[in-house]
Amino acid sequence: MESLRIFCRQRLAAIDADDRRRRRRVVDGGHGVHVTVDGRHALNFCSNDYLGLATDPRLIDAMATAASRTGAGAGASQLVTGHNAEHAALEADLADWLGRERALVFSTGYAANVGTTAALVSKRDHIVADALNHASLIDGARLSGAAKHIYAHGDAMAADRALSNEAVRSGHRLVVTDAVFSMDGDTAPLARLADIAAARDAWLMVDDAHGLGVFGPDGAGRVAEAGLGSDRVPILTGTLGKSVGAAGAFVAGDADVIETILQTARSLIFSTAMPAPVAAAARRGIAIIRDEPARRAHLRALVARFKAQAETAGLAVAESDSPIQPVIVGDEAAALRLSNALLERGYLVGAIRPPTVAPGTSRLRVTLSAAHTDDEVDGLVAALAESWSAVGLSAHAAPACVS
Ligand code: PMP
Repeated sequence: MESLRIFCRQRLAAIDADDRRRRRRVVDGGHGVHVTVDGRHALNFCSNDYLGLATDPRLIDAMATAASRTGAGAGASQLVTGHNAEHAALEADLADWLGRERALVFSTGYAANVGTTAALVSKRDHIVADALNHASLIDGARLSGAAKHIYAHGDAMAADRALSNEAVRSGHRLVVTDAVFSMDGDTAPLARLADIAAARDAWLMVDDAHGLGVFGPDGAGRVAEAGLGSDRVPILTGTLGKSVGAAGAFVAGDADVIETILQTARSLIFSTAMPAPVAAAARRGIAIIRDEPARRAHLRALVARFKAQAETAGLAVAESDSPIQPVIVGDEAAALRLSNALLERGYLVGAIRPPTVAPGTSRLRVTLSAAHTDDEVDGLVAALAESWSAVGLSAHAAPACVS
């Protein structure tokens, strides 16, 4: 169709005019954090596989063994014939790990957040959301049709003000936040938000995608670390494709809440279930997280090491104690040049630019993994400092850290 071709060409021309065309790199799996990018070896510092479990032989074995029993694909949605014994066992494991009555598995975190939000609130209701929430929470809010009230990032008092507004009193109120913010690595004021939600009779939904496996007793996440049970955080979501090392996601909470989501979340009802072998790998990942606290201890030590060394090297590091350690550059083109210069030195670190982050806050999103060694982190910081001046950034080029 000619009109379609013209439309697409115009869209692409507009993206190119802004120098915002994103390109996928072909990454060959290697061993853990060692990857091959466009034919050359690099150390991966931009994955969310925080504990190095995605390439753990035990997960690979769990997946392969399950596949020989269940087949590769689930074949249908959960409510038809796609709900296998592996999925049921995974949901039981998740509920036990997270201290919730019940958990419900989705194929992706995007589907879990969109489906859960739209299942619980609708156009008569209100969503009070952090300004830096993940896109899946934003899209869930849009899809739900509820009125949106966005509060300044991390500002619990602003959330309270939004909830106290007369116009927000009608219908239900859902407060939604990431636990650890995906592009900044900082943490939401979870306990204060829980207090506020309770005082204002609002429901609190927290996405702990980046806190799971890293923080809290048993690695059960930021919400668990803050001691917030289902009375305080009644809707808890998280993903299985980050520290758990597999793929997919879940929502966890009281049995009636979860059953309501199962009955009404369209992203679950009208979508093929996660492959059962993936559920088997996720179960193994959770068991390892619970059994091997040394992994997260090593990761936390690497985070501290990276921060200390980056500061010494004069790099602008953010207020983050999580494995997400953004290095703020500011200018979009400079962030891209820096990422390319690092790749030339054998370090894979993605440049994050608008619209993913606000204009003027382009950054390198460094993520650390328990699979990295001390020497590898030291090497990254040295390469960062070297690349910083090699691409013409001055010592004080970076704006003040975000968050
Ligand atoms: N929530 C957060 C906070 C995320 O960062 C992401 C993706 N990285 C998701 C949800 C979506 O998860 P998934 O990749 O499984 O769709």
